[in-house]
Amino acid sequence: MSRYWSEHVAQLTPYTPGEQPRIDRLLKLNTNEHPYGPSPRALEAIRQGAGDALRLYPDNESTALRQAVADHYGVAPGQVMPGNGSDEVLAHVFNALFRHGGRPLLMPDITYSFYKTYCRLFDIPTQLVPLAGDFSIRPDDYLNLPQRPAGIIFANPNAPTGIALGLDDIERIAAGNPDVAVVVDEAYVDFGADTAISLLERCPNIVVIHTFSKSRALAGMRVGYSVASIEITEGLLRVKDSFNSYPLDRLAIAAAVASMEDREYFEAMRRKVIDAREELIQQLETIGFEVLPSRANFVFARHPAHDGGELARALRAQGILVRHFAAPRIDQFLRITVGTPEDCGRLCNTLSELALKTD
Ligand SMILES: *Cc1c(COP(=O)(O)O)cnc(C)c1O
Repeated sequence: MSRYWSEHVAQLTPYTPGEQPRIDRLLKLNTNEHPYGPSPRALEAIRQGAGDALRLYPDNESTALRQAVADHYGVAPGQVMPGNGSDEVLAHVFNALFRHGGRPLLMPDITYSFYKTYCRLFDIPTQLVPLAGDFSIRPDDYLNLPQRPAGIIFANPNAPTGIALGLDDIERIAAGNPDVAVVVDEAYVDFGADTAISLLERCPNIVVIHTFSKSRALAGMRVGYSVASIEITEGLLRVKDSFNSYPLDRLAIAAAVASMEDREYFEAMRRKVIDAREELIQQLETIGFEVLPSRANFVFARHPAHDGGELARALRAQGILVRHFAAPRIDQFLRITVGTPEDCGRLCNTLSELALKTD
């Protein structure tokens, strides 16, 4: 606490990202980065953009990117709001759509932990809705609510479980709460779930959040966006332009547009990750892990005979980072990013040695 701080700063609990240490031969399976690089066309666009034009401010409306996203999903550019990574898009969404006095924001008890961080930042009360025993979201828990919430948010596929909700269930939740925004964070949707963008015409209260950090392997560029109705997007843009007119720099816009245009590379790389995930799940099950059904580029797994925290520490000692959350209900699980088949092989070899050693 400093006497120079605004009062609310002392009450904040900042989000803790997965660590990014510099260690040789380190296998990073802790932050769900893509094991393969971005599209070569994106890299070429960055090289082309690295010139004299960097004197000039970027396009404050990121027109080319909004158009590329709109073309890809068959929506209007006016339905797309870009941001400096989807975390920034989420911040604007919380600020613009969820600040309704004392009404609470509904979210699963287990989901992306940044949501709670933003609630504290923007002074939004939260109401946690427990996932079912199998860690799935129960749509009925979000229907016939006794009081109108400030809004609803969840990730689909959910993080860190990897479990996906079907579009029919998302539509039920949205249709059952027509007076509030229902935000679906689709950071991992490209690895095997269906996007709720197709529901926007029927459910104008849905807001979909996408990122280039996971399936497009551009975490280092910081690009994300929302897709929603024009009406909602106008509100989001008001907040964005009250905060930062230029969230995306010239290189980020160029890379993101080129990445969207390179559909072939995108399809091939996501297929590789999905195939590696299925192989990883089999290998983990062979070692005795219980693995939740994942539609993401990570798996969430626990071993009946080994403590999750201890396994994470033992892996770290072997130069392999995975994510462990010391949180209720999930503290026995490891969240493991799907790497290349070689990465997954090294992980599983190390895990089976550890499991044998301590048995
Ligand atoms: C990674 C992730 C994000 C943030 O992505 P950025 O675009 O890199 O900020 C948002 N939501 C979920 C669920 C994520 O896993």
